[in-house]
Parts: sequence; C-alpha cells; structure tokens
Amino acid sequence: MHIYDPQNIFARILRGEIPNKTVLETPHTLAFHDIHPQAPIHVLVIPKGAYVTFDHFAAEASAEELTDFHRTAAKVCAMLDIAPGQGYRAITNAGAHGMQEVPHYHMHILAGRTLGHMIARS
Ligand code: 5GP
Repeated sequence: MHIYDPQNIFARILRGEIPNKTVLETPHTLAFHDIHPQAPIHVLVIPKGAYVTFDHFAAEASAEELTDFHRTAAKVCAMLDIAPGQGYRAITNAGAHGMQEVPHYHMHILAGRTLGHMIARS
C-alpha cells in the first residue's frame, strides 16, 4: 500500500509553492537540480503524478506517464552531455531501508566525477 503525502516537498515544488531550478518540464514530468548536489551534476527527475516510490510508479502509472518519465530522463542526460562521455549513475531510493528522504518518487541522475562504490562496504 502506498500512501501519498500531498505536503511533501516535491508536491509543493510541483504546485509552484517552492522554487526550483528546472532543467526540463513536460506534461507528465519535471527535472530539476538537487538543492544539495552530491556530484558536479545532480538532477532529480520526478513524475507529476502522486507516486511514492519506484515500484508504485512502475505498477500504477499510465503507459504515457511511464514513457514520458523515461524519455525525459534520457533527454536530461543528452542536455547535460553526460551519457556519451564518462557516464553517470541513476539512483532511486525507497522507504526506510532505502533512506528515502522525500516520499514522492524521484530518480537521481549524478555525474561529473567518479562516484565510488554504489553501496558503502562495511
Ligand atoms: P532521497 O533521499 O529522498 O532519495 O533524496 C531527496 C533529495 O531531494 C535529496 O538529494 C535532497 O537534497 C533533495 N531535496 C530536498 N529538498 C529539496 C528542495 O526543496 N529542492 C530541491 N531542489 N531538492 C531538494
């Protein structure tokens, strides 16, 4: 069960209550710069629909929303000129174990430096 909190910070960004540095906007998707970038390029891609996590979005979004989201992420890669060069990392965190901070589905696109191991080794 996915319970969406309409007061989450990305919902407020989508309503225009909080400013953002937009990279690209489409009818179903918004891409904007992360406020605390963890790499020289750190962009967040979010659907405009009320989805909490990746699995929520993948299970319940329409084909149009799914296509628009992924095509927009690809356009962001092309616009920032990151895919053909040194590469990038696309991450989506979910829930407590994934340490998701904002409960609105988002994909992080990180690039511009070597990003290290995906998961800290202990
Ligand atoms: P999560 O931990 O949920 O995967 O990532 C949430 C991301 O949202 C973090 O990287 C954080 O810096 C970013 N973030 C949180 N609040 C804001 C905000 O108000 N504006 C922007 N642009 N990014 C935010």
